[in-house]
Amino acid sequence: MRSCHRHRTRINRYRKNKRKMRQRFQQQLFETDRLRELSAGKLPKVVILTGAGISAESGIPTFRAEDGLWENYPVEQVATPEGFARDPEQVQAFYNARRQHLFSATVQPNPAHLALVELERRLGDNLLLVTQNIDNLHERAGSQRVLHMHGELLNVRCENSGQITYRESDVTDDERCCCCSSPSRLRPDIVWFGEMPLHLQQIEECLQRADLFIAIGTSGQVYPAANFVQLARKAGAHTIELNLQASDNNHAFAEHQYGPASITVPSFIRKLMTCLRD
Ligand code: NAD
Repeated sequence: MRSCHRHRTRINRYRKNKRKMRQRFQQQLFETDRLRELSAGKLPKVVILTGAGISAESGIPTFRAEDGLWENYPVEQVATPEGFARDPEQVQAFYNARRQHLFSATVQPNPAHLALVELERRLGDNLLLVTQNIDNLHERAGSQRVLHMHGELLNVRCENSGQITYRESDVTDDERCCCCSSPSRLRPDIVWFGEMPLHLQQIEECLQRADLFIAIGTSGQVYPAANFVQLARKAGAHTIELNLQASDNNHAFAEHQYGPASITVPSFIRKLMTCLRD
């Protein structure tokens, strides 16, 4: 009697596993079909949003560790206008260090950055790459159509005229910019918390026309970027999250792939490019 029960339990477990495997297989088929459908007869319009996770394997730590620190500093101290007003030397030193770190030999674009360059070569103007990152790894990999919605580490901005200058060396707080009649302080050209992200109108227009929206290595905690998936969905785009683990807004995506960006991104882009060739 007992062995009959055990046998039935085993059969039920086998059936359940088989059902799960079938569902997973059907889902994969659906995803590939969806990509094929998107690219049938024309190049799809694709918007990609990248976050700190894509650069993690390039040696640049992400932002939101469990403790909410950025490179051991509370974000209010180094990523808000109030923090800059309170202690400008500390903020300049923080960004000087981030800038110098970009030039260390260990910081290099990884296969995820490189895969996006291949996709851009295939899609041209049909691809828009939006990054929340302030590093220059997309450009160093070879991407040409990149919008930095949170600014760039290698730019500084005159506090009076707003003129932006490319800058590799350290900035001190007593340094003055002489681009206009009123010599003023230079600040990092970074969008801090409480400030308006850049290029929003252009990004939203592209999202409204998008066939495919892919978010890579972003926590879904920083707005308005966290809302892009909703805008893309409203426009009827297929939406995909590639991340190390589920983001805060993962429920908004139609498809998810979890793992390190250096693996998931090249593999996904290969799949997409195959569909584009068909
Ligand atoms: P975040 O730090 O809040 O989240 C990082 C995300 O990346 C997480 O979801 C995590 O699961 C994922 N991740 C970590 N390692 C990964 C890997 N190897 N592969 C794939 N995913 C991985 O990043 P955010 O959402 O971009 O927001 C943080 C803000 O901080 C941004 O606005 C940015 O300006 C700034 N920031 C930039 C850099 C950079 O330029 N590289 C680095 C740190 C912080």
